[in-house]
Amino acid sequence: MVNCPLCNAAIDVDEEDLDAGDSLICEECGANLNVSGTSPLELEPDKEDDDDDEDDLDDDDVDDDDEDDDDEDDDDAWK
Ligand SMILES: [Zn+2]
Repeated sequence: MVNCPLCNAAIDVDEEDLDAGDSLICEECGANLNVSGTSPLELEPDKEDDDDDEDDLDDDDVDDDDEDDDDEDDDDAWK
């Protein structure tokens, strides 16, 4: 039995069954939790639907959007 780091609810999972990198869901608050360590057991709340890889892509997209805005300004020139 482990406790959710967010709502402190008891999660019905055997501590000995968990390995670092495992993920579980708190049934009480619905948080996705990642096991970051097992001795002692550490649970880290996962960000909603955000993978680290996607964050990197999002940053690139923001830069692209800025460039698109510049292009729109240029569009006025050829009208
Ligand atoms: Zn919880």
